[in-house]
Amino acid sequence: MKVLVCGGAGYIGSNMTAMLAREGHEPIVFDNLSKGHKSAIADKELVIGDLSDYNLLVNTLEKYKIEAIMHFAAFIEVGESVAEPIKYYRNNLCATHNLLHAMETTGVRKFIFSSTAAVYGIPETIPITEDSPTKPINPYGQTKLAVEEMCHHQSEAGKLNFAALRYFNACGAGNNGTLGEDHRPESHLIPLVIQAAMGKREDIKIFGTNYPTHDGTCVRDYIHIEDLCRAHLLALKQLDNQREIRCNLGNERGHSVREVIETVKKVSGKEIKITETENRPGDPPVLTASAQKAKDELGWKVERPDLEEIVETAWKWHSDNPNGYPD
Ligand code: UDP
Repeated sequence: MKVLVCGGAGYIGSNMTAMLAREGHEPIVFDNLSKGHKSAIADKELVIGDLSDYNLLVNTLEKYKIEAIMHFAAFIEVGESVAEPIKYYRNNLCATHNLLHAMETTGVRKFIFSSTAAVYGIPETIPITEDSPTKPINPYGQTKLAVEEMCHHQSEAGKLNFAALRYFNACGAGNNGTLGEDHRPESHLIPLVIQAAMGKREDIKIFGTNYPTHDGTCVRDYIHIEDLCRAHLLALKQLDNQREIRCNLGNERGHSVREVIETVKKVSGKEIKITETENRPGDPPVLTASAQKAKDELGWKVERPDLEEIVETAWKWHSDNPNGYPD
């Protein structure tokens, strides 16, 4: 299938692009390279452009005879979304509106959207199921939920088949360990701890030690990037039969910040300086998924559930690429 991968040069997008190609699909990357890395997509077809450019989108969908779209192009910093909401609404919501409009114009019906556990806000019950209330507590989560609703209405109108996949904490390196996490600035826990272990950072800061969890630090559900991407392939297939899919993608296991640090220590054999700091605003104590719906609807199964193994893939990528991608 010819699949347009919006944000295909980013961390999740580049892993998805590689997997699509490995599985015999034809990925075409659409990316403005504001955050992505050209070297992460190797020789794949690339359209450099912005989702705000409606004419370019329509031309691209027509030129490449695109049959499905996977959309990873979004801003992802919760704190920044609180400080700069308009930036988030413009990029995450308005640009996606543009994309759906171009899809409608050109008759492309299949859409896979990167959603997030942040749509749930502070969950009332753990593990989180898809029928838990959606009450985002920051503009990031709200823009993702707004896109889900836009897709829902477009689907109800008979114009779209879509999957909104609600990611928990994507991590690790995929494509045989060659595609890793390189956000600039980096804000995600695992790459930050690895950088501290490599001596590229003085310490790792633990954001809060007084949470109601077993060791006082936040618990998250870390899911290997390859498992995450594989769910997208299954969803793509399922869109032949289903108009609307909304699923959590998580490992169904929780690990605290301290456990993640200990795991990086063990995998790397390095000492890591820890500094305990204030809670990060808007961080729920525990976010772990029920992935039963993805199992039932997509036939998905997590193949790499072990945190140590996940961290090993990330550690190896960072060791092989100590300065990240060259571009
Ligand atoms: N975290 C931390 N120190 C850091 C970065 C993150 O203690 O330097 C914590 C953060 O508060 C959260 C967890 O690590 O509880 C995972 O954070 P991340 O930003 O990787 O993902 P999120 O869960 O926010 O999507």
